[in-house]
Amino acid sequence: MSVATQVSLAPVDETAKWKYLDHIRRTPGPFTDPDSQSEEALNRINQCKILVIGAGGLGCEILKNLAMSRFKDIHVIDMDTIDISNLNRQFLFRKSDVGKYKAEVAANFVEKRVKGVSITPHNCRIEDFDLDFYRQFQIVVCGLDSIAARRWINSTLVTLAEEDDPDSIKPLVDGGTEGFKGQARVIIPSITSCIECQLDMHAPRAAVPLCTIATIPRQPEHCVEWAHVIAWEKEKPFPKLDKDDPEHVTWLYQKALARAKEFGIEGVTYSLTQGTIKNIIPAIASTNAIIAAACCNEVFKLATSSVPCLGFNNNYMMYSGNDSIYTYTFNHEKKPDCPVCSDNARPLDVDPEATLQDLLDSLAVNPEAQLKQPSIRAEGKSLYMRMPPGLEKATSPNLPKTFLELGLEDGQHVVVTDPAFSITEFNYYLRFKSKG
Ligand SMILES: [Zn+2]
Repeated sequence: MSVATQVSLAPVDETAKWKYLDHIRRTPGPFTDPDSQSEEALNRINQCKILVIGAGGLGCEILKNLAMSRFKDIHVIDMDTIDISNLNRQFLFRKSDVGKYKAEVAANFVEKRVKGVSITPHNCRIEDFDLDFYRQFQIVVCGLDSIAARRWINSTLVTLAEEDDPDSIKPLVDGGTEGFKGQARVIIPSITSCIECQLDMHAPRAAVPLCTIATIPRQPEHCVEWAHVIAWEKEKPFPKLDKDDPEHVTWLYQKALARAKEFGIEGVTYSLTQGTIKNIIPAIASTNAIIAAACCNEVFKLATSSVPCLGFNNNYMMYSGNDSIYTYTFNHEKKPDCPVCSDNARPLDVDPEATLQDLLDSLAVNPEAQLKQPSIRAEGKSLYMRMPPGLEKATSPNLPKTFLELGLEDGQHVVVTDPAFSITEFNYYLRFKSKG
């Protein structure tokens, strides 16, 4: 028998392995829930089934952290495959993994490194599963970069939650990063403020007005936008802009640099030019590590009750590493007219002379709605339905009609649905703007 085999066969000292974790769990502090100290409670972590959504920058960190925090039954969903550009921060992937499914490779890697953990990968979309699938977990952790996916899982977990059944309430721990900024938040579905209540925190970024770009640039990005929107159109150095062609990007970079010099602005670089025109926010490995760590601490606290977690009072932690390090934790309150977690209809301010099409267009840009493909009906009447095609054909003549022409009244209850949220109905009532 070789030395290596002997070493691997030596019994693993479980006490030593979990020494520090056990110390935290067995040493009560002033805020420790006394019920968390019984042997039964201490063993509960072994049965806790966790769902991780996303196996990218945050997901890799989350899976590693959860496995090393003694969680034994983890599932992970991600539909993406590994791209070479992921390798600088998604540390569970190697060059030979490029093209393979993220969820699968991440699960295998962590299972191999941390003995005793089972990680089940699902290489698909979250929408591919039904409510019964989500019912099997105790806690859901999201490491996503998509707002639509967050909204989908949020509305699904709110639908699952029933007031008189504590097991049906699955806490949602959500992490997100953008460059040097990030957030970690805990949502207790149907009880505390949900992702939809907090949707305005993700309002689409305001575009820089063209006049700023054309006349008085203040930031290096403004110079790049000038080169991109104005100089390119005027000079047309190549027939069509290809943002992946280094020659094209270099042209824009040189133009932007010259403009920046003219206005005494520093910071125009090739990579900034590329990032600005492609609207890329750099992914920062350390931000992911910090946010994933915060999320996994919350999962640990939720699962063990050893320390109070984010959730009931303060539920939202924001982190900024842009200008030194700053964190702020606050309570984001539940909205009484949230379309997902409350039954109350939300007002929609409309001009009675405006058309149904105007209203549908406004739902896409309204920061509190952000519904891109809305269908709408009023009590007993389809106003506009995208599906099925027959109904679309029958209702599309309503689009150019005004609310008055459609016979809708001030205070009229309307229901909006969107294919991105299959189960959720958004309840609104029309509030006519008075003239003058
Ligand atoms: Zn809500």
